[in-house]
Amino acid sequence: MDAEPAPSRSISTHLRGALGACRGVWRHAARLALDIALPTLCVACREPVDGEGVCAQCWSKLSFIAPPYCPRLGIPFVYDPGPELLSMEAIANPPAYARARAAVRYDDVARTLVHALKFQDRTDLAPAMGRWMARAGRELLAEADALIPVPLHWRRGWSRRYNQSGALARVIARQSGVKLVSEALRRVRPTQQQIGLSRPQRASNVQGAFRVASHRQSEIQGRRLVLIDDVLTSGATTDACARALLRAKAASVDVLVFARVVDTHKAPI
Ligand SMILES: [Zn+2]
Repeated sequence: MDAEPAPSRSISTHLRGALGACRGVWRHAARLALDIALPTLCVACREPVDGEGVCAQCWSKLSFIAPPYCPRLGIPFVYDPGPELLSMEAIANPPAYARARAAVRYDDVARTLVHALKFQDRTDLAPAMGRWMARAGRELLAEADALIPVPLHWRRGWSRRYNQSGALARVIARQSGVKLVSEALRRVRPTQQQIGLSRPQRASNVQGAFRVASHRQSEIQGRRLVLIDDVLTSGATTDACARALLRAKAASVDVLVFARVVDTHKAPI
């Protein structure tokens, strides 16, 4: 009936707002003080740790991927088959992207980190994860013109407030000096969640689902790009993104992820 709120209500609203702001500032200050007073915490288990990153125990549980690996897919080999020898998977099912690299295998600690970043707003994990990715993708980044994060919106989990691929890409851009081009890829048709789908189903689910945003065309055409994502599973999503970038006349597309699923039965040639 009345458009204006009653004065008492208005005052209490203002008070609540002011108190909320104070709490926000105080929380920030308290957090800062804690950061200064306390040693750095392990990004996985939050135990105090010397330096940054993960504690020795969690570190030992992470499987960092190092050569020898398939030069195309970055799948680790158990022995060195010699230079330029591809994995069976790269030969049988060559992706649209040129090369993929991952910092770690997608196992327990890696999953903890990915889930914390993705679902628990643990943005403090992005710097360490991004640094490991920058190291794993050094070779790709040295030749790259731009970083393209895989867009968030195709996934479920709409409530998530930010794009974890974008957060990782920002760290990698700072580390490598390669330009970040955000919002280059757009989902142009709905897709269902990839979990639970077979490999062919995953591929058809995301086929043609992405397009380069028209205002980003000039930043894609003729450029050597690195797609950034948190996890590589079947590769269907990254492949669909790579196809969209190549359709927009990218010179080349490589892929850099934090963790990749490695099928230990198929990995060695
Ligand atoms: Zn730990």
